[in-house]
Amino acid sequence: MFDYDLFVIGAGSGGVRASRMAAATGARVAVAEEKYLGGTCVNVGCVPKKLFYYGSHFHDDFNDAKGFGWSANDVDFDWPTLRDNKNTEISRLNGIYQKLLDDAGVITINGRATIVDKHTVVINDQKITAERILIAAGGRPFVPSFDGAEFVITSDEIFYLETLPSHALVVGGGYIAVEFAGILNGLGANTELSYRGSQLLKHFDQDLGIRLADELVKKGVQLSLESNLESISKQADDKLLVRFKGGDQRSYDQVLYATGRKAYTADLGLDNTSVEKRDDGTIIVDDYFQSSEPSIYALGDIIGTPELTPVALEQGMAFVDTYFKSSPRKVDYDNIPTAVFCQPNIATVGLTEFDARAKYTDVQIFQSEFRHLKHTLSGSTEKTFMKLIVDASTDKVVGVHMLGAEAGEIIQGLAVAVKAGATKAVFDSTIGIHPTAAEEFVTMRQPISAV
Ligand code: NDP
Repeated sequence: MFDYDLFVIGAGSGGVRASRMAAATGARVAVAEEKYLGGTCVNVGCVPKKLFYYGSHFHDDFNDAKGFGWSANDVDFDWPTLRDNKNTEISRLNGIYQKLLDDAGVITINGRATIVDKHTVVINDQKITAERILIAAGGRPFVPSFDGAEFVITSDEIFYLETLPSHALVVGGGYIAVEFAGILNGLGANTELSYRGSQLLKHFDQDLGIRLADELVKKGVQLSLESNLESISKQADDKLLVRFKGGDQRSYDQVLYATGRKAYTADLGLDNTSVEKRDDGTIIVDDYFQSSEPSIYALGDIIGTPELTPVALEQGMAFVDTYFKSSPRKVDYDNIPTAVFCQPNIATVGLTEFDARAKYTDVQIFQSEFRHLKHTLSGSTEKTFMKLIVDASTDKVVGVHMLGAEAGEIIQGLAVAVKAGATKAVFDSTIGIHPTAAEEFVTMRQPISAV
């Protein structure tokens, strides 16, 4: 007899969901967490980032207000207020997560669990056995090694800074880099974004990355593309002197590295099992989250699927359906909508134009770029961009992309349509909501190109 039916390592989005749902079926469940309940999303990811995003966006809002007759000239920003109010909210959420686990009957154990054999973990010097072990330990920020790497911060630290840097360098061209370039710039830091490639957000439709670069520059971010950092040294005044390849050097108060995340498998004890990993450290599982060690399962950021909270939540539900509700099911990874909370927002569902052209022989592109009604008075030159990608042979909309205010809110609804297989004719026959930006998605009639 095992101590538990299920022992979960990691109380992040996926681990908590799987623990609670499994316990609700009557299973005896324990979850180990070494740091904070809710994992990356709640503590150093989605939630505090969105709060900081709101905080930074007031910068534009105050400027925009002037064209509507408001005086907003002497506005001031206090970083400790935002940081500490955010901390209070995160503590509240940590408490809610604890209550959810307690109410479900899940035993929470604080500490880092190490697997010692296929049914046993050790945590805080105590051995615990379980019929099934689920690894949901997530990922950690990755910083490449270079001379002076010890001086940089990552998304784990940026949320707790004592002071807002007056001059910040953000390195990377993905989600976190473009989001924090916008946040730091909006909050008043003199912000530079350095990316090694030529186009930001390279896994998104390229029209988004290109236009985002323009918008970032308009808002005051100094953008350095094809820029490669060589080394960092700390100066006597505590400033960080950054040397770039090619000879440039500049100094900053903080350097934020946003160069991806790596599966957090350190000290998990996987060597004591037959669990297999890929070269990048992610755990190999089958469609039902089972590793090559049959009693050990894994889900969330640690298995190499899209590193998104809703994906981990869905995986947690599918895992429980499969093993605790006798209703095996796989997660459908097609058409996962996603948003980047850069400024303006980006959101997308389905295929990029590049991928659609590789998959279908006859692709139609519909797109629209315009100034939001609000900005006719605000004076802002921010542009909204929308793009529909249609497989002409079936008329199905296979990709929807947007850069503009509230893109995430708009694309969520359109993701339902794409998932349901809506055709362009259905989009065209849908009556718009006027006056909104979103109505543009149902009024684009003329394809810009057809192949
Ligand atoms: P991303 O994978 O989005 O981007 C990483 C960036 O770092 C890329 O631009 C990459 O360049 C660059 N990079 C990688 N290695 C190096 C290196 N050695 N030197 C210089 N640059 C390098 O990772 P993030 O860290 O931004 O975010 C991690 C994940 O977290 C995201 O992929 C996403 O799944 C999730 N996330 C989701 C959010 C949301 O839903 N809004 C918000 C934040 C994170 P290149 O493109 O050239 O490879």
